[in-house]
Formats: sequence, C-alpha cells, structure tokens
Amino acid sequence: MKTYESLLEAITPTGGETREVFDPATGEKIGDAPVQTVADLEAAIDRAEAAQIEWARLSDAERIQYLHKAADAIEASAEALAELLSREQGKPLNGPNARFEVGGSSVWTRAAADTPLPVEVLVDDESGYAEMHYRPIGVVGAISPWNWPMMISIWQIAPSLRMGNTVVIKPAETTTLSVLALVTVMNQVLPEGVLNIVTGPGRTVGDALTRSPKVGKIMFTGSTEVGKRIIQASADNITRLTLELGGNDAGIVLPDVDAAEIAENLFWGGFINTGQTCAALKRLYVHDSVYDEVLEKLVEFAKNVPMGVGLDEQNVLGPLQNKGQFDVVDRLVEAAKASGARVVLGGNPDRDAPGYFYPTTIVADIDPHNALVVEEQFGPALPVIRYTDVEEAIRLANELEFGLGASVWSKDRAEATRIAARLESGTVWINSHGGLHPMIPFGGAKQSGYGREFGVEGLKAVSVPQVVSG
Ligand code: NAD
Repeated sequence: MKTYESLLEAITPTGGETREVFDPATGEKIGDAPVQTVADLEAAIDRAEAAQIEWARLSDAERIQYLHKAADAIEASAEALAELLSREQGKPLNGPNARFEVGGSSVWTRAAADTPLPVEVLVDDESGYAEMHYRPIGVVGAISPWNWPMMISIWQIAPSLRMGNTVVIKPAETTTLSVLALVTVMNQVLPEGVLNIVTGPGRTVGDALTRSPKVGKIMFTGSTEVGKRIIQASADNITRLTLELGGNDAGIVLPDVDAAEIAENLFWGGFINTGQTCAALKRLYVHDSVYDEVLEKLVEFAKNVPMGVGLDEQNVLGPLQNKGQFDVVDRLVEAAKASGARVVLGGNPDRDAPGYFYPTTIVADIDPHNALVVEEQFGPALPVIRYTDVEEAIRLANELEFGLGASVWSKDRAEATRIAARLESGTVWINSHGGLHPMIPFGGAKQSGYGREFGVEGLKAVSVPQVVSG
C-alpha cells in the first residue's frame, strides 16, 4: 500500500451500502466509502472483546513492539496516506497539513509506546505496603472528527492499545476513507481483532457505540453538543469518558509586544489547518496602544500565505472540509459585516467557484459580543477585538462556556504567567498558540470537555487504576 492507487484499492468497498466521496477543493469524486450499520458495529465490538483477552496477556514490551511496527507501517505508506488525506479532507500536502499529520500519527504512536508507566509504590513503611497498577479497561470505543482525522484517531487508538485494551473506532462521516486507510495500514502488522473500524452515521452507529455495555471507555473528540449526548448515553453502564470538545480560544496581546515579531505565530495560531482546529486562536484581544500595528503586521503576513488545491505543492491553506462548515463561516462573517465591523482582509468568497474555499479573513473593530466572536467559527476568519484595560480582556476571554486553550502575548514572561493563572482553559500558551507535544497533557476546561490525552496522564486515562496492598 505504498502508492495512492493501491491504498485506495485496499479500502474500496466490495459490497454493502456506500457513499460517494468528493474532494472539497475541486468537487471531483475520489472514491466510495462504506456506510455500515449497528449490526456491523455489534460484530466489531464482539471481535474486539474476543481479541482483548490475548492482547492483554501480552507483556507491555510485546505491545510496545507492536506499536512500533504500526508506526513503521504508517511511515512506509506515508506519502499515499498524505495524498488520500489531502484529497478527502482538503488540507494541502505541505505546511502544517497532510504530510505533517501523517508524520504526527507515527510520532504519537511511538510516544504512546515509549512513555514509561512503572508500578508506583504508594506506601512502604511500618503502616503498610501498597502499589498502584494500571490495568486494561477492555474494549475502548473511539469517535473522531473530520478536522485532523488521522492524528486524532491515533491519539485515541495508540494509548488504548498500549494499555492492553482493544479498540473499535468510528470516524467522522466526511473523513471515513482517511481513517479507514490508516487502520488498514496499521492492521498489516497488528494481531487480528485488536483494532477495528466501523463506519456510518454518528447518530446511529456512533450512538450505539456509546451505549454498548461491552465498551468500557469512550474516547470522544468532536463538538460540545454531541459530547453532552455521550455523557447522557454513558450513564447506564457508567462508561468512562475522555471528552475533547469544542473550543473558542482567546489570545490576549499585551501592550509591550513587538508586532512584527509575533505576526507569524499569531497567524498560524489562528489559521493552522485553515482555522479548522479545536485549539486554534479564534478571538484575538489586542491592546489599543498596539492594535493598529498588530493588525497591520498580521494582515501583511496573512495575505501572502497561499491557499488552494491540496495537491498543489505550493499551497499551505486549503478549503473548508464540507459545505456545512463553509456556510457557518460565511454566515458569521456576514453577521460581522452587517454589524459594522471592518473586514481588513478577505470576507469575499466566490460562492460559485468549485470547492469550499473561504479566503483568509481578518475582521477588525468588532463588538466583543458579535456572533463571529462568541460562536466557534472553525474556519479561516479571525475577529480582532480592541481593549484598553487588561482586566476587561481577561473577563471577555473567560465569559464563554468554552475553555480549551488560550494565549498571552508579551515580552514579560512573569506578567504573562500571572495572566495565565486567571484564564479558564486547559492550556495557556505564551507567545504562540495551539502547539501540541506528545508528552504534554492536553484537554479542556469547562464545556471544552474533561480528561487528558498524551503523556503519562494519557496512558492512565485508558486504564483502570488498581491498588495492590498488603
Ligand atoms: P461532531 O461532534 O459533529 O462529530 C464528531 C464525531 O461524533 C463524528 O465521528 C460523528 O459521526 C460522531 N457523532 C455524531 N453524533 C453522535 C452521537 N449522537 N453519538 C456518538 N457519536 C456521534 O464534530 P465535528 O463536526 O466532526 O468536529 C468539529 C468539532 O470538534 C468542533 O467543535 C471542534 O472544536 C471539535 N474538536 C475538538 C478537539 C479537541 O481536542 N478538543 C479536536 C478536534 C475537534
């Protein structure tokens, strides 16, 4: 499966219900995706349950070896996977996009393999002796979104497998082929039944996965709305949950910044993956004294970043992944315009052109309660809000129900850290936004979810802590 054609052939359905898949950049058909049913899901859960016994019996070292083999397999098919991801998701091959995502998938697989989790001795004195072990949960259900379909699926799959669980994954409807390809590549080396995929609608197949009494844990990444439904569905079986939900991350720029120095990081904070990133910078609060200069430097940088068809090597921004998301961005920018906000870049999509391209858009002098600020745009349209008192910026940053990430921009690290302590979010970046690392726990506060992925915390999250005492 080293070429795009052989990879596509390996995942093309030979029967059953299918759905046509179109490139969101060109509208061209790229293939057919299977649409499976709750009966298929039940069979997959049974396979996962049966395989889990042997998988858990392997030593940690044996499972680690399997994960490295899976990472090798991803690397061997990397270019084919990146091409498929680019064609289905829309993201360009270059920049922090398709090749980067496939590379991240193998990096995170190896990190999940190599993170040590030794038995912890809790008490060892005259009062007693106790150790903490981390045991497998059983079958983990994984449900992933369409923005980073391969990498986010890996974040769910790799730690789960490492800890002795087997996995049933349900990808998003509009990026089914990408995850199917990834799983197919990994399954060349994993034992049968350990990693299973079932496609199909979230409201039927996804819902049934969250309600199955045979599934001990759900790893979910997606919208807050669906996250709430999953919490309700988990009640009957006390199913464990890790919920990585929506975000509307704020950035606060303090008066002491050098606008030219921060422009590039500001841009990529907001526009990575063409804005379709959970922890992207989605509202930027800039102090009045540097407002015009920051805006000017940001626009100057943004207007030179090429957007276009993913397979064209020069592009680093792509289309929105689907029509629904295009309409959300379009509606929000139109609402901002109607309110009298100033569009300083973009905001003028060609609605008749092929593909779901929305131009890089920056909106200035916008009311802090405009819909483009308070709703999650999940696309390439950044509102820049003027403030005069940092207390006001902190209050505005904290007033939404979201709390995934935030950032503070300043030359004064101590001051930035003091402000970070007052921001209600799972991560606060200083002078950058959205960077992730396989050893640094990531997750949300407030309605952006609960639980943490990555590093030691991520491994513990897909296991049952068990005390052995005496
Ligand atoms: P979504 O919630 O619509 O769908 C996510 C997944 O849930 C899909 O696989 C879908 O089929 C499935 N699903 C839908 N209804 C379901 C149900 N009732 N039961 C079980 N599964 C169901 O989200 P999306 O539109 O694919 O992704 C965009 C959203 O995801 C944004 O809000 C974004 O911020 C969020 N997101 C969060 C993170 C994070 O780490 N916090 C990362 C990426 C995306």
